[in-house]
Amino acid sequence: MFTTDQISAFKNIKTPFYFYDTELLRQTVKKVSEAAAPYNFHVHYALKANAERDILQIIQKQGFGADCVSGNEVKRALETGFPPVKILFAGVGKSDEEILLGLDAGIGAFNVESIPEMQVINALAQSRNTIARIAVRLNPNIDAKTHHYITTGLEENKFGINMSDLEKLPELLKSLKNLQLIGLHLHIGSQITDLDVFKSLCIRVNKIQDWFISNRILLKTINVGGGLGVDYKNPDNTDFPYFKAYFKLFHQFLDLRAGQSLHFELGRAIVAQCGSLITKVLYIKHGQTTNFAVVDAGMTDLIRPALYQAYHKIENISSSGETEFYDVVVPICESSDVFGKTVSLPPTQRGDLLAIRTAVAYGQVMASQFNLRNLVSAIYSEDLSKS
Ligand SMILES: *Cc1c(COP(=O)(O)O)cnc(C)c1O
Repeated sequence: MFTTDQISAFKNIKTPFYFYDTELLRQTVKKVSEAAAPYNFHVHYALKANAERDILQIIQKQGFGADCVSGNEVKRALETGFPPVKILFAGVGKSDEEILLGLDAGIGAFNVESIPEMQVINALAQSRNTIARIAVRLNPNIDAKTHHYITTGLEENKFGINMSDLEKLPELLKSLKNLQLIGLHLHIGSQITDLDVFKSLCIRVNKIQDWFISNRILLKTINVGGGLGVDYKNPDNTDFPYFKAYFKLFHQFLDLRAGQSLHFELGRAIVAQCGSLITKVLYIKHGQTTNFAVVDAGMTDLIRPALYQAYHKIENISSSGETEFYDVVVPICESSDVFGKTVSLPPTQRGDLLAIRTAVAYGQVMASQFNLRNLVSAIYSEDLSKS
């Protein structure tokens, strides 16, 4: 939803741009924090969803930790004020340089994804005369029932250590003297809207915990990753995501053992709803059977529709009236690059502004300069009210 002041301010800004509603973000982080507080759950924000500095500062101030998947994300988290001990570093392909960066910064833990990676981290920690805290990422073989590109918890995925390799862990840890195993890490996928999936995850974690206990391995942290989905169809639905129900479910079904803490790595659910991609209509083309609205944004600015066939609600914020159908298409030479087919919009003309909603998660972070286009810019609601 946009105020009339915002819409009139948009007219003077070069399109396309991301519009971030920072007040809405503040409300959301507060909601997350209040929903997790009764259980003392720890929330880490997954930077890969959106790593704009202003966004990170708002999230950091709420006391969340950071979940990073590259050395540059670790750097960005440090620069935006996340305490090093609250930074986790995951990812299947950490380079030596990135591992050293994490070791030197004293991050909370490396989420390790393979036995060879454990050996490398151990050697690098030894070279720095330090102990690396690690959490092993296990592949729990749970179907997240989401798009196959964003399903990560099945055995055939590249992520995590397979359950069969788990057997080797006790022996291995004895020989890797510069590693301290502090926890277990799992992450099964993204945009999960069926909370039952998380219940299955809890039940699986309880079983895995039995194995660790029978092997006399003490885990201080259980990290169940992220993946909570948002309502792309109804961008203004403030009941969604169900943070309260989500945390309550883990409280009910996951058996924490004495002294253990439970950690979450939410990305999308925290940021997705707090902004839109604003684009201008360049041309209306009347085809044989379809009207095309050609807009000035493309997959270089928001790749989700082209990459995952993702749906984003599109609204014409310059016009009103009885709706007609349009295919909202973009100037880039890729047929997959369509923002929406048979989108219902009021009569739309050249110069109208369209808002592509719920665009903050995995939006601007994936921007590129394909076709040598300009990198998309960002505008914050606070900046508008100042001018
Ligand atoms: C991507 C990712 C997340 C965040 O996922 P969301 O679906 O955005 O909540 C959390 N943990 C890990 C390890 C990830 O790779």
